[in-house]
Amino acid sequence: FHKLLIIVTPTHDRPFQAYYMNRLAHTLRLIPPPLLWIVVDMGSQSAETADILRRNGGILYRHLVCYKNLTGIKDRGVHQRNAALSHIETHHLDGIVYFADDDNIYSVDLFEQMRKIRRFGTWAVAKLMESNRRAHIQGPICNGTQVIGWHSNQVTRRFQRFHAEMSGFAFNSTILWDPKRWHRPTLEPIRQFDTLNGRFQASSFIEQVVEDESQMECLPQDYSRIVVWHLHFESSYSYPPEWVMKNNLDVIA
Ligand code: UDP
Repeated sequence: FHKLLIIVTPTHDRPFQAYYMNRLAHTLRLIPPPLLWIVVDMGSQSAETADILRRNGGILYRHLVCYKNLTGIKDRGVHQRNAALSHIETHHLDGIVYFADDDNIYSVDLFEQMRKIRRFGTWAVAKLMESNRRAHIQGPICNGTQVIGWHSNQVTRRFQRFHAEMSGFAFNSTILWDPKRWHRPTLEPIRQFDTLNGRFQASSFIEQVVEDESQMECLPQDYSRIVVWHLHFESSYSYPPEWVMKNNLDVIA
């Protein structure tokens, strides 16, 4: 018996979209079922996204659309993740929920490990900073399966309680509609991601799902390994400034 994995991906139209979405589809294709890929567009179902999903090689998916007036750049992806959360809650989809952005690179093992999560699992993400091109790690410091601290920086330390990246945690979906069973910190309905929190949304979401680190599980068990990379390929550092791409790259499967 395999636990259902519910992979939530907000996506949008841009030159690398086909490359990113095909790459993620290729990773997800390697994961044994059951897996449901919830892909969320903003405003309308884009033909590009629909086409990639149709040709994804057999992954079970739902293509949702989120309708919301965007008020600022900080809203990027936020309402789309919320639309997916509402969908999971309304339909009581019982599984492990993971927010997998389309532009990250994921190790296949991560998804297998996620199935072991009871309540809330977290792991470190390797990031390449756009500002100074330095690599750094964000996420838990682990001792076996225990979270004993966090990789953080001066800014995040001041403003947030938990230093997990958006793509550095996953949780049991039943927490969304069954707070008593999980002794959730609050019995109020979970406030979804909040654009007011800007870069610190992940932490304010996690604070409603767990009380403290004792309710978290570290993944992977071999915790020295990195399983997610966030590299910002599109940043001006990766390509000479005179390289301009106007159209989406078409990736023929
Ligand atoms: N995203 C989106 N609409 C936007 C901006 C971002 O759907 O206007 C999605 C994007 O496709 C990705 C996720 O949100 O899946 C995170 O985007 P990005 O990596 O650009 O944000 P960052 O993590 O760098 O803040």
